[in-house]
Amino acid sequence: MTVPAGEVVKVTVRGLTMDCWKCHRPTTAIVGMHLASAVEGDLVTCSDEQALAVAAQLLRATGKVGLAQPIKTRTSRTAGGTGLTNGCQHCDALQGNFFIYHQELMEVLSTNGVEGLEHLADADLPTERWHQLHRRWATGER
Ligand SMILES: [Zn+2]
Repeated sequence: MTVPAGEVVKVTVRGLTMDCWKCHRPTTAIVGMHLASAVEGDLVTCSDEQALAVAAQLLRATGKVGLAQPIKTRTSRTAGGTGLTNGCQHCDALQGNFFIYHQELMEVLSTNGVEGLEHLADADLPTERWHQLHRRWATGER
């Protein structure tokens, strides 16, 4: 898909509700983004910190502050350091990337595809920023 430079694209932010491992209440993790016009296109997953930061920013821009609020910088021993992560909306416990992106997300995608994920927001993102995130996602670790 070619989009002229300097413009914005409409991006859909997708989430997945799962039970928090700590307080066992349902909480929504931010899992990925795709072009609103291309549901069947690539889902850029938010396991990448930059993608997660952009998703949180888009949620705030559309007034979904409650969903963006648990996305914070946390220190994780299993992830080997400090980084921006999903957290529980109730107790703030870190929701681990491996569990979210390699277990829960894969299960939903393999059974229902992207439509099986929750539609959290549609928001404008500068086209350049989208291309940058997509490039990182396509070439980086997934
Ligand atoms: Zn919790």
